Amino acid sequence: MRPPGPGSVTAAAPPAASRPPEADIRRAAVTVVTVASLALGVTAGGWAWTVDRRAEDEALRAAADERVAAAALAVDADRSAAAVGAAVLGTAGAASVRTGSRAALDAAVAQAGGTLASSAVRVDDDAVRQALAAVLGAAEQEAATASAVRLRALAAEVAGAERAVVDAVAAHDAAQAAQAAQAAERAAAERAAAAASRPRATSPGAPAAPAPADRSCATTYSGPAFYTSPPTDGGDGSNGRLPASALTAVSWTRDSRGTPFYLRSDAAAALERLNAAFRAALGHDLALDLTYRDLDTQVAMRAALGSVAAVPGTSSHGTGLAIDVPELPCTYGWDTAARAWLVANGPAYGWVSPAWARQGGSNPEYWHYEYRG
Ligand SMILES: [Zn+2]
Repeated sequence: MRPPGPGSVTAAAPPAASRPPEADIRRAAVTVVTVASLALGVTAGGWAWTVDRRAEDEALRAAADERVAAAALAVDADRSAAAVGAAVLGTAGAASVRTGSRAALDAAVAQAGGTLASSAVRVDDDAVRQALAAVLGAAEQEAATASAVRLRALAAEVAGAERAVVDAVAAHDAAQAAQAAQAAERAAAERAAAAASRPRATSPGAPAAPAPADRSCATTYSGPAFYTSPPTDGGDGSNGRLPASALTAVSWTRDSRGTPFYLRSDAAAALERLNAAFRAALGHDLALDLTYRDLDTQVAMRAALGSVAAVPGTSSHGTGLAIDVPELPCTYGWDTAARAWLVANGPAYGWVSPAWARQGGSNPEYWHYEYRG
């Protein structure tokens, strides 16, 4: 259940929701009353406040209600019983009634002592706990000599004071939970705002401004995942329906699902030559994210991304004449060595950055290059 808190010096007290066996009640009560003042001295400490504590609070409140009601009923009942005992049963009967009343007080004291201890840092105003401690102290002093009726009255006082503490704990925990929920909402709103302010690199006309410093090297793509396509079985050679006979896979890399990167065969051959030069200049192969894209994928992209994606049947990826390098701004972004090399040297291999994909173009995409032969 709950972790041991700062008030665990009172661990001898029974759990708040259960009563000890009758034989142990008195011992527990003595222990509780003795340590009650110690519990009051405990200051704020680290306790993990969790939402499920509200359920625990509700159970405690219900139990406290029951005890208050039972104690009130018992006071009335004992008034009658004491009178009957004295008049009809004599001294022995009265003593028996008193013994029952004392047991009831001890049980209430033990219960309240547990609540007092466990509430050490869980109330906003400690006055209710101090009041409970005072009532417990008075009960301890009077218990030995009080009449049956007085014992029952004390039990009712203890239960009432305990109820006030339980209510205060519930209010405190509810406030904590509300604060936690508000903090979570604020954090979620901040994340959403940060995401919204990040440039959508694939938006038409939206320049891909530098991302915030702390994630400047993360991918600029945040849409659903799309993958490069294998050749289209039975493809007729139209856009997005290129058969295997029209395509060649590049030799040095595959996509994250193991699909080879296919291009129209002459474009693939040119890219092989480009990559050799690229690797010589930059020390690593050109990374690819997507090359040939079949019609079904283009339809799905259009549905998911809207006008950012080309109208199905018109994409240069559908003709096997385009590549996308990864949307990694620190590696392939506008101001990187890789892009500078590709823009300067790609045309010698037939590969260009189209005007529309450049900064200031109609649809800036630093990752997109096309084969123009
Ligand atoms: Zn592209």
